[in-house]
Amino acid sequence: MEILENEPMSRHTSFKVGGPARYLAKVDGIAGVKAALGLAREKGLPYFTVGNGTNLLVSDKGYDGVIVTLGGEFSSIEDLGNGAFKVGAAVPLGRFARAALKQGYAGIHKLAGIPGTLGGALYMNAGAYGQEIGTCCTQVTVLDDAGNTRDIASADCGFGYRQSNFQKSKEIILSATFQLPSASAQGKDVADLEAELAECMAKRKATQPLNMPNAGSTFKRLTAGAADTPVQIAPGYYIEQAGLKGHRIGGAEVSTLHANFIVNAGGATANDIKELSEFVQARVAENFGIELKREIILLGEF
Ligand SMILES: Cc1cc2nc3c(=O)[nH]c(=O)nc-3n(C[C@H](O)[C@H](O)[C@H](O)COP(=O)(O)OP(=O)(O)OC[C@H]3O[C@@H](n4cnc5c(N)ncnc54)[C@H](O)[C@@H]3O)c2cc1C
Repeated sequence: MEILENEPMSRHTSFKVGGPARYLAKVDGIAGVKAALGLAREKGLPYFTVGNGTNLLVSDKGYDGVIVTLGGEFSSIEDLGNGAFKVGAAVPLGRFARAALKQGYAGIHKLAGIPGTLGGALYMNAGAYGQEIGTCCTQVTVLDDAGNTRDIASADCGFGYRQSNFQKSKEIILSATFQLPSASAQGKDVADLEAELAECMAKRKATQPLNMPNAGSTFKRLTAGAADTPVQIAPGYYIEQAGLKGHRIGGAEVSTLHANFIVNAGGATANDIKELSEFVQARVAENFGIELKREIILLGEF
């Protein structure tokens, strides 16, 4: 285990903002995770797991606790045959999606453009273009704050739209197993999946401000209409209708390309980003009576 003290979290988040973490523990195996939790206990501090920091806004004051980041043995993909995979929590989601696609397995290939780790993806139940990581997951292995490992069947993970039971626990996701459908079972081949993936990547490139620091969608999609015929509404529509594209607070800006993205347009603080997100929420509520719910996770004191 490597321990960094007063490590700027701006180095570990895609927004490129965030003050220092009192400790940042880089762990490469279960013993390391247990040691990091031991450090937190010994110092009387909380702990928090960070993957790629692509859905995270860390306070300018930093985090007075132990940040746990996984690497080493949590970075491997095991092909168990017939579409079954065991994947470490530190594996970039894109790496797993592409590796599975190459073997002719569908189900998660459209998620390849999501820049997080598998652990972060399971915590958020990340999804895109009609696919969600929870759907093909069979089991998740976690470590609880007492240092015990536990296997949780996918059905007990509470996967829903950007939702999982991990959001209500302190458990650290170590790895997960998946059962992916073969492309041929869907009447497709690898080239078809590659074409679908390329189309998703092109859509991202055309519609998302990928050249500026951001953390993906600021707010969750909205559901309207009757329970049996729900209609999905993109928050970006209301944000744009409220005239907020390009609106700035300090260095934070509502993207001119995609209204549901806030970008660090240069020198933004975490406070700028949080204030701007609250301003957007207030304006959309005022104009349309709609309550936007934040998708991005906040860490530390604001
Ligand atoms: C350009 C861009 C595009 C994006 N597009 C999408 C998209 O299409 N769909 C989508 O769903 N998201 C999208 N995102 C958001 C983000 O990439 C996902 O939510 C991703 O799953 C977060 O993974 P991460 O490793 O970066 O998690 P982090 O941001 O590091 O953490 C997010 C949460 O997960 C928890 N967590 C992370 N690892 C673990 C672990 N091992 N055990 C327990 N908890 C853990 C953290 O504690 C935190 O609460 C996008 C982001 C960006 C920047």
